[in-house]
Amino acid sequence: MFIEWDSPLSDEERQVRETIHRFAEEVMRPVGQRLDKLADPADVIAPGSELWDVFRRHDDLGLDEISASPDLTPLQQARMRCIISEEQGWGDAGLSISFGVHGFPRMAATLTGREDLIERFSGEGQVGCWCATEPDHGSDFIMQGDRVGEWAKAPNVIARKEGDEFVINGQKSAWVSNGTIATATSLFCAVDMGDGELGVGSFLVPLDVPGVTKGKPLDKIGQRALNQGEIFFDGVRIPESYMIVPPEVMGIGMDVVLSNANSGMGSTFSGLARAALELAIDYAKDRVQGGAPIIEHQSVKARLFDMYRRVEAATALSRRAIVSLALNGPRLELAVASKTFATQTAFDVASAALQIFGGNGLTREYPIEKILRDARASMIEDGCNEVLSIVAADKL
Ligand SMILES: Cc1cc2nc3c(=O)[nH]c(=O)nc-3n(C[C@H](O)[C@H](O)[C@H](O)COP(=O)(O)OP(=O)(O)OC[C@H]3O[C@@H](n4cnc5c(N)ncnc54)[C@H](O)[C@@H]3O)c2cc1C
Repeated sequence: MFIEWDSPLSDEERQVRETIHRFAEEVMRPVGQRLDKLADPADVIAPGSELWDVFRRHDDLGLDEISASPDLTPLQQARMRCIISEEQGWGDAGLSISFGVHGFPRMAATLTGREDLIERFSGEGQVGCWCATEPDHGSDFIMQGDRVGEWAKAPNVIARKEGDEFVINGQKSAWVSNGTIATATSLFCAVDMGDGELGVGSFLVPLDVPGVTKGKPLDKIGQRALNQGEIFFDGVRIPESYMIVPPEVMGIGMDVVLSNANSGMGSTFSGLARAALELAIDYAKDRVQGGAPIIEHQSVKARLFDMYRRVEAATALSRRAIVSLALNGPRLELAVASKTFATQTAFDVASAALQIFGGNGLTREYPIEKILRDARASMIEDGCNEVLSIVAADKL
């Protein structure tokens, strides 16, 4: 089932939705389930892993180019973005996030409009990531905004200006998505412009250069297809031109990035919530207890309807956040409302779905326990929901 738009999809939108839905159903979901079952997260990224084929097939679809096509109006681009992330979230949340951060360095380079950066950070075979959080700065990183100075007082990573280069030292957290496989990153870190004063800036950094090492892949309960791990910088030198957001404007830069990331999360996890609802409806039609398919029992019906209205609401809000971002620019409070509401909905709906599956829901034979684990991670991912809410409340 799809949650339909208020205004009908164009032929092109319908075609894109069908293509991605097929990719999500035939590739992302089964591969995500198999990668989830691998006991060692190192096997997810081993040379013969299915992950690499999925990445290649994803890149072949050219989804970033489709949603950013200059032939589309901003509204049409926003609708495409929703269609793509909802379907990918429906297929597999971990792979969706992996694809999303993979595009970060390329997207950041494109936003600068600089050909040298676009060429350096858009090459074929590259894997991107977003290095923001640090061992001592998880929520602190999100908490910055107007409080930029706090984080920079005791950072774990510093970029120091030396002549016409920056030299980067330190360690990013084990939570960096695609961390151990990335070849390039969009790096947010403390900056010393050469005067000893610390601010926070953003850089594009190749990760296939001397001085970069990686930790081991993180083992976690949800989104196990998503590789995560530390990145260490030991005297890594980059040209000064790779700084794309200097400390003076980083406050605005953070709003833009967090608004994009949070609205994307809202869309992805409203897709996951829809997947859980669909699986529960199908199961309830099949499973016979008390002389009838369980969907005919009133309490099951009521539970399914409650799940449905939550999915409708999360989808509507997440679409509104993405469309508003495209038409009106960043509104962090709306993006955070979308992220926190959709991820909470995803978790609640997945949990209700598991209840409908009964005992079967608890087994790894059925897909719902994995969806619940994937949804649980999303309430911490990109910022704990409660911390994001505190930051966004400042905007009201
Ligand atoms: C699946 C996943 C993907 C991720 N991907 C990336 C990525 O690509 N790049 C990246 O850089 N990071 C990534 N992260 C890291 C993520 O952003 C952090 O995990 C998140 O910001 C929380 O930080 P923390 O884990 O250090 O928790 P902490 O900050 O230690 O928080 C622990 C608890 O304390 C509470 N708390 C902390 N500070 C406050 C406060 N000031 N007020 C009230 N409560 C507070 C929190 O709500 C939480 O309950 C990812 C995380 C996950 C789970």
